[in-house]
Amino acid sequence: METEDNTVNCENDEEKMDDKSENPWPYLEEFFMYRGKKGDSVQMQCKLCLTATIISAYKTSASNPKKHISRKHPSKMEQ
Ligand SMILES: [Zn+2]
Repeated sequence: METEDNTVNCENDEEKMDDKSENPWPYLEEFFMYRGKKGDSVQMQCKLCLTATIISAYKTSASNPKKHISRKHPSKMEQ
């Protein structure tokens, strides 16, 4: 079992998510599905992972999703 900072492999639905259209990073839509906000962070689901990997990222920084792509799907970064 692999654990990774800022990555949750199961859905955490104790808090209802809303504002599904408010994706702060439309350019990442190719890789991530916007799942909602939680406080100051946004929940992005990776479309490339076979399991439903949710990446939690601070809403002003896309570094976590980008880091996920560069670590897990490096071939996608080459374009
Ligand atoms: Zn992924």
